[in-house]
Amino acid sequence: KKIIITIDGYSSCGKSTLAKQLAKKLGYTYIDSGAMYRAVTLYFIQNRIDWLSHEAVAAALKDIHLDFVINSLTGLGEMYLNNENVEHLIREMVVAEKVSEVAAVKEVRDFAVAQQKKMGARKGIVMDGRDIGTVVFPHGELKIFMTAEIEIRVQRRFKELYEKNKHITLEEVKQNLELRDYIDANREISPLRKAEDAIILDNSHLNLEDQLDLVMQWVEDAIMA
Ligand code: C5P
Repeated sequence: KKIIITIDGYSSCGKSTLAKQLAKKLGYTYIDSGAMYRAVTLYFIQNRIDWLSHEAVAAALKDIHLDFVINSLTGLGEMYLNNENVEHLIREMVVAEKVSEVAAVKEVRDFAVAQQKKMGARKGIVMDGRDIGTVVFPHGELKIFMTAEIEIRVQRRFKELYEKNKHITLEEVKQNLELRDYIDANREISPLRKAEDAIILDNSHLNLEDQLDLVMQWVEDAIMA
């Protein structure tokens, strides 16, 4: 039996790292829901769309086509925006700075959530995000809510970003994480929440292997249930 696994939590808790490995181990498909909000944000920035205007957003969304295309080398899906690979562009700070504002817009959420729900028609998926266990797959068989201490999250994200951009500072990264967490947890529409039936995974002091051991046990339990 194949199930739906949802992983929600604050920014840079290691959700995608865990989700990717879990999907690999299980032979499931990993879907990065945040990439969709990032791609929409990139489009809005590139095309100077005023995301505070509902009309402008609704019109712009009609011109946006999102796809996850499997990279044959890594086996992982990469984000395509109107047939262009934007997997790297969407990780840049300019996008990170605006994505939470864009993701709080109702039309944007409706657009992304509808596509995410469709991807769940086929079981055997691991999807990470902020509202996957609460809104996208409220009936998901295994829900995980990840947390980690803020300083640890800042260090992790900084290391990732610094490899690509040596000008980035720890303070910049910390401010961005805190701001995104604040907006994500306080927006009106589907704010970041732990689903009632989600299991909390605090990975501040757990390495990836330990996390996988834990979660694989939860997966077994969920499949048996
Ligand atoms: O997961 P990631 O950090 O790439 O997500 C980027 C942003 O997209 C989040 O800070 C949040 O504002 C938004 N997001 C969301 N709902 C999701 C996934 C991401 O609102 N399910």
